[in-house]
Amino acid sequence: MSIKDNLSTIKSSLPSHVTLVAVSKTKPIADLMEAYHAGQRIFGENKIQEMTEKWEQMPKDIQWHMIGHVQSNKVKYMIPYVSLIHGVDSLKLLKEINRLAAKWKRTVDCLLQIHIAEEDTKFGLDGQELNEILQSEELKTFENIRIVGLMGMATFTENNEQIKREFLHLKSIFDQHNQLKTAKCQLTTLSMGMSGDYQLAIECGSTMVRIGSSIFGSR
Ligand SMILES: *Cc1c(COP(=O)(O)O)cnc(C)c1O
Repeated sequence: MSIKDNLSTIKSSLPSHVTLVAVSKTKPIADLMEAYHAGQRIFGENKIQEMTEKWEQMPKDIQWHMIGHVQSNKVKYMIPYVSLIHGVDSLKLLKEINRLAAKWKRTVDCLLQIHIAEEDTKFGLDGQELNEILQSEELKTFENIRIVGLMGMATFTENNEQIKREFLHLKSIFDQHNQLKTAKCQLTTLSMGMSGDYQLAIECGSTMVRIGSSIFGSR
């Protein structure tokens, strides 16, 4: 199957309220262009340097999503163009994104990453830490960011019951906060689900899926 065929198969299976992020990390420009020509306009990368190189070479109507862990000292490279940062997991990082976004006179949309997996290798906040960020006075002073939702990654396992439990846990945290509507913060996006588990994620309430290998082939 070609990238184009993979994309159209996946897209036809997604409900209309679910956004597809094509995860193109490690893949060459030619593959991204194939997806672009098939109509894909949202791409996800997990390394800032690789994303920036691709942004420079690709058409400018693409929305670039940073889906990986973000180091504060690298934020500056993506601020001019990034459209959504999925993996924000501290107030300190929000502060740095806000500072640089102000410098570029932009507002940058962010998702807060919640730790739902069993493995402690995966980054993210717990419910308590999320509350602390959402209620912090400092957040109100950040004029150049918007928190638009939550992101999470389930444990890498064949056990669908476990994955489902983790997704539902994230969904319940999302539901606790999605009534919240301030200028800075309106949780409308729930980013969960990858190639192996996106159907399950959608059943559990995902509104944004991040799919790589099912589109571009294995890495
Ligand atoms: C690589 C990656 C994906 C995509 O994974 P696939 O299994 O290839 O679909 C999704 N989300 C994050 C955070 C990733 O790093």
